[in-house]
Amino acid sequence: MRLLLVLLLLATAILIVASFAAAGPPAPNELGRVMVLEYHKIDEPEERWTRTPENFRRDLETLYARGYRLVGLNALLDGRVALPAGTTPVVLTFDDSSPGQFRYVERNGALEIDPRSAVGILEAFVREKPEFGRVATFFVLPAADPPNRLFNQPEYAARKLQFLAERGYEIGNHTLWHANLARYPESTVRAQIADAQASIQRAVPDYRVRTLALPHGAYPKSVAWVKSGTAKGVTYHHDAILMVAGGAARSPFARAFDATRVPRIQAIERELRYWLEWFERNPGERFVSDGDPDVVTIPAGSRDRLRLDLPKHLRIVER
Ligand SMILES: [Zn+2]
Repeated sequence: MRLLLVLLLLATAILIVASFAAAGPPAPNELGRVMVLEYHKIDEPEERWTRTPENFRRDLETLYARGYRLVGLNALLDGRVALPAGTTPVVLTFDDSSPGQFRYVERNGALEIDPRSAVGILEAFVREKPEFGRVATFFVLPAADPPNRLFNQPEYAARKLQFLAERGYEIGNHTLWHANLARYPESTVRAQIADAQASIQRAVPDYRVRTLALPHGAYPKSVAWVKSGTAKGVTYHHDAILMVAGGAARSPFARAFDATRVPRIQAIERELRYWLEWFERNPGERFVSDGDPDVVTIPAGSRDRLRLDLPKHLRIVER
């Protein structure tokens, strides 16, 4: 009798293990949601707007282990999700160009990226795990008071922007000095955007600034003022306007996706844990790549949830 019980337990255990093994990678769902993570300071100690270097490194490890891979914000907006099947895109954004995000240090007479700054940590992580991807968007402030003026090393400010652009990172507009755009008339709002872009382009000529993160998440009276226009001889056009909160973003293929209101998740312990667990509990809500950037794989019967103006080269497959 006891032997029978043991055999029964053993058989059950084998069945459970086998069913997990058979599950394989999660089914693709390119209508699922995407986390756009928003970091501020990378520094000591951990605070409301500060993530320590150790914790930032741990975030990358956690994301990697749970099947997330980096995708650029601009690529996501273009619907270019070139990731292996079964993985989930995640976007990194950094606001306010504080020193801990990108710092140069001198070592043995040579200049190097501080391995404890966000760029240094990300570069080192990707050297170990190239398949994680190496991209992030930096929403910089060209004329804020120090220490938020272009990462706080004026002698290297232009060099940093050039490095970011050459290395495939993205530079976004965050206004000239973090102006609360809800408080200003149209001319000031447009000048803030135009002057910030001109400053970025003085360091990186012809760089196309495609996204704007609203300081304090505050919208101006009309969103049209920040979407596109010309001011002070500078023409700007933003493919997306980012908020400071709001949870996981809609898929860029979804009809519910609104490029003028892209929500973000603040990358602090509590929020990160909440959303990672939320996706574990709600796997059907998670964007899972099909491995083919030209195909959009969606759950059967969900065509009516697709955007009407999808890029023509994309093929839709229901699973
Ligand atoms: Zn900000």
